[in-house]
This record gives sequence, C-alpha cells and structure tokens, in this order.
Amino acid sequence: MKVPVVDYIECVGCETCAIMCPEVFYMSHDKAWVRDHAAYENCDLRRIWRSCPARCITFVDVPDDSCP
Ligand code: SF4
Repeated sequence: MKVPVVDYIECVGCETCAIMCPEVFYMSHDKAWVRDHAAYENCDLRRIWRSCPARCITFVDVPDDSCP
C-alpha cells in the first residue's frame, strides 16, 4: 500500500491537498498533515501530487499488514 508523506519543511501551507482530499490531509500550524488511517485509496493521490505547488508530497510503501 502506498501512503502519502508530506515534507513539512517544504510545505507552503496552500491547503490544496486538504481541500481536495480532507479524508487524508488536514492543516495544522499552516502545514499539511496526513491522517493515520487507511482512506488513501479514496482520493486521487496522483492528481493531488500534481497539484501541490511545493512538490512536497511523496509516497512510501507500507505493507498492508503493518497495522497493529
Ligand atoms: S498541497 Fe502541498 S504545499 Fe499545499 S498544503 Fe498540501 S502539502 Fe503543503
């Protein structure tokens, strides 16, 4: 499973990702954060990645059975 990760130093706080997919991203202290649950498949993450002006969203592979 691909999980989005935000580089908080590069994030410019534009809120685009949180507006496009509030199930995954939320804003706090003018930075985007990733919610800790498996709703990632419900959003077009490729479209959000392309829309991020800072290009600070990346993806990491996490095994599906990694949750406790
Ligand atoms: S779209 Fe990119 S720059 Fe804008 S809030 Fe989200 S992660 Fe930050």
